Amino acid sequence: RAFATNIEAANPALNAYVVQTTDKALDMARASDARLAKGEGGALEGAPLGIKDLFCTDGVQTTAGSNMLKGFVPPYESTVTANLWADGAVMLGKLNMDEFAMGSSNETSAFGPVRNPWKSKTSNAELTPGGSSGGSASAVAGDLCLAATASDTGGSIRQPAAFTGTVGIKPTYGRASRFGMVAFASSLDQAGPITKTVEDAAILLRSMCSFDPKDSTSLDVETPDWTASLGKGVKGLRIGVPREYVVDGMPAEIQALWDKGVEWLKAAGAEIVEISLPHTKYALPAYYIIAPAEASSNLARYDGMRFGHRATGAKSLTDLYETSRAEGFGTEVQRRLTIGAYVLSAGFYDAYYVRALKVRRRIAQDFDAVWDKVDAILTPSTPSAAFALGDKEIDPIQMYLNDIFTVTANLAGLPGISVPAGVDSGGLPLGLQVIGKALDEATVFQVADVLE
Ligand code: GLN
Repeated sequence: RAFATNIEAANPALNAYVVQTTDKALDMARASDARLAKGEGGALEGAPLGIKDLFCTDGVQTTAGSNMLKGFVPPYESTVTANLWADGAVMLGKLNMDEFAMGSSNETSAFGPVRNPWKSKTSNAELTPGGSSGGSASAVAGDLCLAATASDTGGSIRQPAAFTGTVGIKPTYGRASRFGMVAFASSLDQAGPITKTVEDAAILLRSMCSFDPKDSTSLDVETPDWTASLGKGVKGLRIGVPREYVVDGMPAEIQALWDKGVEWLKAAGAEIVEISLPHTKYALPAYYIIAPAEASSNLARYDGMRFGHRATGAKSLTDLYETSRAEGFGTEVQRRLTIGAYVLSAGFYDAYYVRALKVRRRIAQDFDAVWDKVDAILTPSTPSAAFALGDKEIDPIQMYLNDIFTVTANLAGLPGISVPAGVDSGGLPLGLQVIGKALDEATVFQVADVLE
């Protein structure tokens, strides 16, 4: 009830929720109370969560931020959310996001932009909470839920977490099931939580992850209790600092934050090791070929026939496809689909798509080559603090550059967390990222706990 009241008060300004499920939440909460009264219950009994609107929720509208899916009510539940409800969590509603998770500022949503609850001391501008999980990050930072689910294809958990002073972790590719998650780029998409603390992230991620035969890329591995990593310290751990992440034009404040992180870990007994990840500079171009390519294939299902938006008055089948897609998809999605179709087309496939896959392999090999020297890697989460709404919307390249530190973990399938670690000169939160070995979220949490 307290969160429902907060949502009533603050959501008109933040625009974080696109659907509220207060009655359902109260029913779920009462059922949770009943379980607890009988001495039963799971790890999340009564925890009120917001759900990013790309997790299919049985009987509750799921749109992925798109006009294409407005009015779509899934007849089934995503595995990730089903896991949360099985552990006793309560659903407050569905959270706004960039359309089909394509964006870094939550400005591509068909429901309008989300606002960041933070305000800069030096300007009155309204700030983006980042994207694509902008609704999730804004809702957690603004106390409109205890924690939220999110998804990360190229940084959409970690970048919004950094922009809102919250914690966000993307697990190893394959830890969380993609069943029932609206697909963007299937080889990169992973679910994870956005929370207020590292401890909450450890608890929530454990509930979200499971082996799922319904997702062919799901990993049949045990999900450990990551709270066991907390309070261990980092004595004796080797932390890598990749020199290629010092990018041109990086603000001094971001370098200073990174240096501070290095000092904290050193003071806590970690050994700092300078490392090289030589193919880093190709990560962004490779990502912005692979992600649109996969999107153009995944989003082919929105044809106006099977489900989603259907145009009226079409004169032929082709006209129906074209008009439904032209009306249903926003500008950024259309841009991605155009790029994707182009790089996959005969004649360009080898020059773009196949080449990007080769770069992706090199990036993964860069990481493989350093794991005998370091246990985890420390970088900034983003090249800046939260920017103003409208600032980068007109220039897609500027927007894409925001993902410079985050896309590598997706391309290599590695776990990465963003932890709030300082503020900029305007008092806005900044995040540090810890990247770990595949399936070694335990060390990622161990380091994040010291940085928090
Ligand atoms: N900003 C990146 C993009 O627009 C990442 C999005 C995401 O992780 N879902 O593709």
